[in-house]
Amino acid sequence: MSLSGKNAVITGSTSGIGQGMARALANAGCNIMLNGFGDADEIEADRAALAQEAGVKVLYNGADMTKPEEIDGLIQQTNADLGSVDILINNAGIQYVSKIEEFPIEKWDAIIAINLSASFHTIRAATPLMKEQGWGRIINLASAHALVASPFKSAYVAAKHGVAGLVKVVALELAQDNITCNAICPGYVKTPLVEGQIADTAKARGISEEEVVKNVLLAAQPTKKFTQIEDIGALAVFLSSDAAENINGSIIPIDGGWTAQ
Ligand code: NAD
Repeated sequence: MSLSGKNAVITGSTSGIGQGMARALANAGCNIMLNGFGDADEIEADRAALAQEAGVKVLYNGADMTKPEEIDGLIQQTNADLGSVDILINNAGIQYVSKIEEFPIEKWDAIIAINLSASFHTIRAATPLMKEQGWGRIINLASAHALVASPFKSAYVAAKHGVAGLVKVVALELAQDNITCNAICPGYVKTPLVEGQIADTAKARGISEEEVVKNVLLAAQPTKKFTQIEDIGALAVFLSSDAAENINGSIIPIDGGWTAQ
């Protein structure tokens, strides 16, 4: 499936799932604007390696997804430096696990800002560009937690359910502009985000980390397998293709059957 000549911006693509989707889209021929935090030398090495591996342009912008003006700058820089914003993938996200009555207010605010409001800001900025060129793909990395809840994740589950709502509204508004908007909803994927969560959940529930993996994380996934980053990358490439032109407003689980229950 070729995305040759297309330009994509992927938030939170210096790690985990975002990095995997950047690799998948680049190897399908798409130029990439990376974004996210991390060690500057490592980000530059990864950027150069991906450009070399895929033979496409790979750029980087370190916009902070809690800052609306920096988010607008990310979209405008992508348009200026790559020539268009064809594909927008909202992926940056953080997690925090705590009982509701002890949930730190600043963690609630940060999760809502990064996991939900940032998607509003990117979509708001990219939509006029996509409308003008008459083509666009908007993909949001939501979660199985956009469809179902788990205890101790009030902010995350609220944000991801919010993303599902935003996706449906945007899909309806842009349905006749040749622009689609969808959500990918993975179950558990072994990335730094989940590795941190294993320790936090063990603490919150008073059980061992092994028990968290077996009895909490994969307990919900009937296949008993973590979702693979490469599989999410392949789905993002498909949703970005012309073949997916009539997939719009869909909340797509890739969760081993978790939300079928
Ligand atoms: P990760 O921690 O490996 O990567 C998160 C990325 O977001 C990093 O590049 C980080 O630098 C970036 N980021 C964090 N705060 C930012 C900010 N303020 N501004 C800009 N970038 C910021 O996590 P991941 O597991 O790859 O998660 C990616 C997305 O997938 C998230 O939205 C997450 O909720 C979702 N998701 C993950 C899982 C899972 O099991 N790992 C499951 C379902 C959904």
